[in-house]
Amino acid sequence: MRIDAGTVVTLAYELHDGDGRSIEDEGAELAYLHGGYGEIFPKVEEALAGKQVGEVVSVTLEPDDAFGEYDAELLRVEPRERFPEEIEVGMRFEGVPGDREDEALIYTVTDITPDTVVVDGNHPLAGERLLFRGSVKDVRAATRDEMTHGHVHGELGIHTH
Ligand SMILES: [Zn+2]
Repeated sequence: MRIDAGTVVTLAYELHDGDGRSIEDEGAELAYLHGGYGEIFPKVEEALAGKQVGEVVSVTLEPDDAFGEYDAELLRVEPRERFPEEIEVGMRFEGVPGDREDEALIYTVTDITPDTVVVDGNHPLAGERLLFRGSVKDVRAATRDEMTHGHVHGELGIHTH
């Protein structure tokens, strides 16, 4: 079966950043519903159309094709007292209070001083050019439920959410 709209595709994949560092663990796999449902980078989906089990795709993703350009406005300096006592660089918070509370972003703590905490709402891979390599492991027809919901329901097509 070839990959087409309405098929569920299982991929073994590797993702590397612009410096060639591996972003995913070895043996990473994903399954997605093909046909523009937004479950995978559109450029990768495009490259996979018409492929079948055993075929491989290699796609370079510019920041715009992946996690977006780095937005300096998403770097915020917040008063220290807005955060819990115990925080450290690398911790993540959702929707840090500020003047853009409507934006439900994940902010990562990047710096801590006695008075301030610097948080960055950019995706950790924003601004990065990525290399995606995927190998097609399985292609099957999506179930009716999957088509209705627009996403994959696990290996056996069972609704688990
Ligand atoms: Zn569902």
